Amino acid sequence: MSGLSLKVKITKLKVDGQWVDAKMCLQCKTYKPLDHFHNEKHGIGGKKAKCKKCRQHRYES
Ligand SMILES: [Zn+2]
Repeated sequence: MSGLSLKVKITKLKVDGQWVDAKMCLQCKTYKPLDHFHNEKHGIGGKKAKCKKCRQHRYES
C-alpha cells in the first residue's frame, strides 16, 4: 500500500564498528539503533516513534 507520507525511514548507524538498523526518534530528533525503541507492531521498522529514553522521561515528569 503506497501513499504514506511518513518521513521517518530506517537507516544504518555504526555502533561499535558494526552497522545496525536505526531510525530517528520523533522527540529528540536523534538517530538511534532500533533496540533503543520499544516494539510497536505497526510502527516503522516494527518500533515506536519515540525512543525508550524519551518515553521514560515523559512518564517521569
Ligand atoms: Zn528520543
